[in-house]
Amino acid sequence: MPRIALYPGSFDPLTNGHLDLINRTVHIFNQVIVAVASNLQKAPLFSAQERVEMIKEVTQNLPTVTVTTFDGLLVDFARTHKVDAIVRGLRVVSDFEYELQMASINRQLGPEIETVFMVPNAKYAYLSSSIVKEVASLGGEIKAFVPPLVKERLEKKFGIPTVT
Ligand code: ADP
Repeated sequence: MPRIALYPGSFDPLTNGHLDLINRTVHIFNQVIVAVASNLQKAPLFSAQERVEMIKEVTQNLPTVTVTTFDGLLVDFARTHKVDAIVRGLRVVSDFEYELQMASINRQLGPEIETVFMVPNAKYAYLSSSIVKEVASLGGEIKAFVPPLVKERLEKKFGIPTVT
């Protein structure tokens, strides 16, 4: 039976930490669905379509990865796509409380779907999309934090000339 993982998130935008997790997940699961949340509490910098398109380009070397948007209940999406496990990242202890709550609620709503936590390489533990946006908006160097395509798109959003 092929094992299918669902990696959901805002990905506004994808960082090297997200990519590290995707690369780890493809080694464990036969298929990985990266699901970009289209209904966010906060207005995103990138539209859902822009986020999907960036992730598709960056993961085009990973044939078992598919990228799509989702809205509504994650458990419903997981059931429709016959997902075995929801993958979430744990960077630091402060992630744990929220992630435990989400995993517990999702278990209540969909007992057949497991949540699997993955830990990124320590060098990405401090990375988040919001800190990267903040640095980029101030004209800081973000080369070490995001794939080159995302760097280019971020700098374009903030009207900063790209230096490679
Ligand atoms: P959400 O709004 O769902 O938290 P994010 O895009 O911020 O969306 O994160 C999606 C998932 O990726 C979460 O499980 C988060 O913990 C994980 N994640 C975010 N940044 C990193 C990182 N630097 N390293 C590993 N996992 C990360």
